[in-house]
Amino acid sequence: MVRVELLGSGNAFLPSGRHHSFLCIERHIIVDAPPTALASLRRAGISPSDIDTILITHVHGDHVFGFPFLLLERRYISDREMERPLTVAGSSGVKSRLIELCNLAYPGSLDQMLKLINWVDLPEINRWTFERFEVNHDPEVDPHGWMMTHDDGWKMLHSGDSGPCDELWNRIGQCNFVILEMGVPEWVDTQHHHKPSDIRKIANMYPETTFIVTHTYVDSDYEILTNEIPVFPANVIHGNDEMVFIVDNDGSIMLQ
Ligand SMILES: [Zn+2]
Repeated sequence: MVRVELLGSGNAFLPSGRHHSFLCIERHIIVDAPPTALASLRRAGISPSDIDTILITHVHGDHVFGFPFLLLERRYISDREMERPLTVAGSSGVKSRLIELCNLAYPGSLDQMLKLINWVDLPEINRWTFERFEVNHDPEVDPHGWMMTHDDGWKMLHSGDSGPCDELWNRIGQCNFVILEMGVPEWVDTQHHHKPSDIRKIANMYPETTFIVTHTYVDSDYEILTNEIPVFPANVIHGNDEMVFIVDNDGSIMLQ
């Protein structure tokens, strides 16, 4: 069984009651490092030094600007001896961007930590196989999604930020469950995010796949933009912060 936690579910604008979209797998792998990452880990009772792998989707601020705080916390609180391994996986531009961020945020303080990081294209983790693939988002930020195959034979996928595209949608059809972004409401004119109608379309195409919607624009507390959750097919769960999913050996997923 694998534990998957949606530690944050909001888009860049922080809809009320939500941290930025942020996923944790088995309490040691995280997807991205948003500005609210440290707050999300604290709320979930996960120490930053327990994280050994960070999968980066792209370098927009709401996905990586929390990275310096994670390193700073490890350096001065949870990993003072700098003994805990950390792998950061992403495309070729990720390393220089994250180092630049750390140098801006805490000049000099994180140099040793940065040198100890294992920067890779794809991580190697027992019982998992990882693939990274291009998605349809601003090309300036090197946008990718992640597909993860478990040794038990099931697959999950994280879309990163992306509008509909063949590469993403074809892969979705191979997966037991999918963490899919819905960054914008129906009336926003963009190709770079999914809208409610896109979610309905792909969910109807693959009724056997469970969809967890994240990076949402919908408020969950007081209304800023809208509190209205769109109507979705039964295989779609509109995510909330702190939702925990348990994946069984056969790839079936249960909301805890
Ligand atoms: Zn983005």
